[in-house]
Amino acid sequence: MLIDSHAHLTMSRFDADREDVLSRAREAGVAHVLTVGAEPGDWPRVVALARAHEAWGLYGAIGLHPHEASSLTEEICRELMAWAADPQVVALGETGFDFHYSHSPPAAQEAAFRRQIGIAREMGLPLVVHSREAEAETMRMLRQERASDVGGVLHCFSGSLEMARAALDLGFFISFSGSLTFKNADTLREVAAALPMERLLIETDCPYLAPQAVRGKRNEPAYVGYVAEALGALQGLTPKDIGRITSHNAMQLFSIGSMESDGKIAYRIRDALYLNVTNRCSNACGFCVRNYSDFVKGHQLRLAEEPSAEAVIQAVGDPTACREVVFCGYGEPLLRFDLVKNVSAWVKQRGGRVRVNTNGQGNLIHGRDILPELAGLVDAYSVSLNAENEAQYLEICRPNSGPGTYEAVKAFIREARRYADVSVTVVNLPGVDVERCRRIAEEELQVGFRLRYYDEVG
Ligand code: SF4
Repeated sequence: MLIDSHAHLTMSRFDADREDVLSRAREAGVAHVLTVGAEPGDWPRVVALARAHEAWGLYGAIGLHPHEASSLTEEICRELMAWAADPQVVALGETGFDFHYSHSPPAAQEAAFRRQIGIAREMGLPLVVHSREAEAETMRMLRQERASDVGGVLHCFSGSLEMARAALDLGFFISFSGSLTFKNADTLREVAAALPMERLLIETDCPYLAPQAVRGKRNEPAYVGYVAEALGALQGLTPKDIGRITSHNAMQLFSIGSMESDGKIAYRIRDALYLNVTNRCSNACGFCVRNYSDFVKGHQLRLAEEPSAEAVIQAVGDPTACREVVFCGYGEPLLRFDLVKNVSAWVKQRGGRVRVNTNGQGNLIHGRDILPELAGLVDAYSVSLNAENEAQYLEICRPNSGPGTYEAVKAFIREARRYADVSVTVVNLPGVDVERCRRIAEEELQVGFRLRYYDEVG
């Protein structure tokens, strides 16, 4: 599933074959398109097109492009609000700054941007922001006008990593277009690789910016898959992962489509199959994804009830169809030790590989050394350490078992080395000395080390 979060389907370049363009998008797996009207003449066309394809899931965004900012009047604002009230219009924009072309004077662009942020806030619509060669001005305006109240997306992003991170801090998403595939876009690719997937969208911005593979052609929504491919290569994910995650992000931002409501027991990321067996945990980490989202990498993981071993086995299917089966960390899997043991045995009997992502408190939880019972069943443990000492562990992870837990986790790691590959993960939270944690893992505990970003699970 793919969502093209920014297209201009009402432009005359689509007049001859608009329905064919939409058919090709559907055939390419594009589930939704956000078509954007950038000037008043376009607004009724956007609404009409989105209504005509409501059943499929075509949505609209309307606004006054910075190129058109000089034409802003109160009457136009009233007109904009009237069209934006249509239920198929799910965002306000594109609006912002364009100092590359400067078709409207900077003061007019600023006034139009300010007014449209106000309208978006009044109507509760997220913003679609255009920013070209105007990083500081864009961020200043978003902050001054409290755009974070409604959030939005910096579309066709071409800015710096610093700007992207500042926008994420305001609750905005970042959208990448076909320009990510261009030969001379190394700097942009570095930015895209450094951002959390949970906050990224993809778009075509068609008819412009056809991806490298179809360069020279008119761009269209069916080509958004090329952007997914490029972003996947940068993020170490498959195009399918990118499609699912960015679609989830777009649905969340624009309140469109139907998000999954049932928690998944088994779900794929890259070439691994993750098993979600409990949402309970013996820690209460402040950064835990469970505190702010039911979704991980586009998969719904909030379980209505904990699955039985039989249900988990059924959800796995063929364990050799993936590189490894991983008991995931959306909850502490070793709370369900018997299930982990039974399912792991079943996977191993069928030639699969097993990893357990754990907080390393299995022995504490069960009051005995459980590791020998998992010998030969679990190939690898990935243990969250997250701190360089006991005091920091207590503050960050807030374990049910209180003082002494940090040392118990370290003992678990040492012991687990006897039976399987072990690596330690640490989340890059402020105040955590990552290098010191790396030394604890590699030198003191003699296991592998992996740095995790706070919203990265799996
Ligand atoms: S150990 Fe993992 S699942 Fe448990 S609270 Fe911490 S981050 Fe969440």
